Amino acid sequence: MLWSITIGRFGGTEVKIHITFILLLAWIAFSAWARGGPAAALDSTLFIVLLFACVVLHEFGHILAARRYGINSPTVTLLPIGGVASMQRLPSNPAQELVVALAGPAVNLVIGLLLFAALGSLHPGDLAQIDDPNLSLMGRLAIANIFLAVFNLIPAFPMDGGRVLHALLAMRLGGPAATEIAARIGQGLAFGLGFLGLFGNPLLIFIAIFVYIAAAGEAQMSAAQQALKGVTVGEAMETRFTPVSIEANLSQAVDALLATAQHEFPVVDAFGKPVGLLTREDILNAVRKHGGDEPAAAFMRSDVQSVRPATPVESMFERLQDPRSAALYVTDADGGIVGLLTRQALAEVMMIRAARPDWRFDRKA
Ligand SMILES: [Zn+2]
Repeated sequence: MLWSITIGRFGGTEVKIHITFILLLAWIAFSAWARGGPAAALDSTLFIVLLFACVVLHEFGHILAARRYGINSPTVTLLPIGGVASMQRLPSNPAQELVVALAGPAVNLVIGLLLFAALGSLHPGDLAQIDDPNLSLMGRLAIANIFLAVFNLIPAFPMDGGRVLHALLAMRLGGPAATEIAARIGQGLAFGLGFLGLFGNPLLIFIAIFVYIAAAGEAQMSAAQQALKGVTVGEAMETRFTPVSIEANLSQAVDALLATAQHEFPVVDAFGKPVGLLTREDILNAVRKHGGDEPAAAFMRSDVQSVRPATPVESMFERLQDPRSAALYVTDADGGIVGLLTRQALAEVMMIRAARPDWRFDRKA
């Protein structure tokens, strides 16, 4: 993300803060100073810094849980609205999705309970008094953490609770139906929140709009998945493509780029087995810094997944939505490349389905 400053690195994940977050801190310090002098400014700023440290720990809850399933998160960015972890992909099975989604709120729950235990008091009444200036800094932090845990468990996207609900539904109904139902529940909840907001807190209306948009996005995803139903990878894949040899240099990769309309080039070894993928951007970035004699394979991405032609294409949809996975290669039983599955190819299947819902995609793969 632009305008972000790296503040540290923990176990392979870079922690960044966005410049607007620093502006938020400055504004809070300034307005507290105006109200209660330097002591109040220090107290308020310290509270926000500690609170956002807890938000970072929440994100690390998700990150560490995802890492157990082999999903890395190269960065986590702190914004005024919260933390955003960049995961390479979503967990593919519901049980993993459930664990990853719950890990974040669980961190806040543990922090909150530990703070309450350290303070030696747990009065339910305290929860309503987060604005009380007489409450200790740690007391307010404890309450805020419990609030974060509960707020994030609201069962609507983009809150963690939405993912929890999706995972639980997917265990019984399968992915697409779960997405649709979870999205509907999220939208219904957004209406409820907005309605409450009309009579009370205007902040609720803001949250409701945010939740509604996220739920609508999920519903759209599910409609797209519906359009891909019954089509296999072999039927949707691109079969006319130019591979780049593992021995090719950058100028040969540029030649391939110019000669074709392709944006993704599989890099293959002498036996036609794919070893990596070069995108148009990868080639351009390499050319910007290096001469044409450099080996093209040095710039390829090697973490590309291969799929078999018989795989249902809808199961690959979410994976291809990730901006980092440009394409997947399709391989036969011997591991040789037979096709390329790209976002473009999926979009074309959806367009044909929109034009002719009963179209049969039974071409010879
Ligand atoms: Zn979370």
